[in-house]
Amino acid sequence: MVKEELDKEQFYKESFDKEKFNKEKIGKEQLYGVIQDEIIKKLGVVPVGVSNRHVHLSQSDFEVLFGKGKSLTFMKALKQPGQYASQETVVLKGPKGELRNVRILGPFRRETQVELSIADSFVLGIKIEVRESGKIEGSAGVSIIGPCGETTIDKGVIAAFRHIHMPQAYADQQNYVDGQIVHVASEGIRSMLFKNVMVRVSDQYELELHLDVEEANAAGIKNGDYLKIIR
Ligand SMILES: [Zn+2]
Repeated sequence: MVKEELDKEQFYKESFDKEKFNKEKIGKEQLYGVIQDEIIKKLGVVPVGVSNRHVHLSQSDFEVLFGKGKSLTFMKALKQPGQYASQETVVLKGPKGELRNVRILGPFRRETQVELSIADSFVLGIKIEVRESGKIEGSAGVSIIGPCGETTIDKGVIAAFRHIHMPQAYADQQNYVDGQIVHVASEGIRSMLFKNVMVRVSDQYELELHLDVEEANAAGIKNGDYLKIIR
């Protein structure tokens, strides 16, 4: 073989050296991650997570619905660290109607909370308010039905106040504080300015804007789109 061909052979051998290939691949992915984070910061944009109706349950409410000693079954990780969609679903029942296959998000919470769109509340025939997560005093109630039982909560049903989950390091660098109110702008044929978006800061968070399905649809926004933060 002439030298050129030997070189070529050596080149292909190295190219298909799996270990080396994987190492380089991981390196690249990490690099892309860093570049992406830098671009996101530079542009002042935030990726959107669209929330469909869901339920956070206390362990005791879960056991009433699914049986004593039973626990949640992991199905899919959410973007916020430690949060996941479970395989289990419940039925919500109000004076006017029901919503079936409502996903439970894990892990368990201290208090049960149901997050719906306003349209969902019309289906159930209950009156809900826009609330920050956890601020459920005086909010609406609903009946929750599982395979093993049923419970009626007298508060905890809300439409979530739109918010941005923001990592502490990002907030420090960009001068945001927990509880700050910003606006968020979308592009496209249904372009909209979302006023009153609350910034929630924690070192446990990934950067993500949470809108409910109706808010997202009103502005033609899909999961994973990027919106610009305005302050
Ligand atoms: Zn959220």
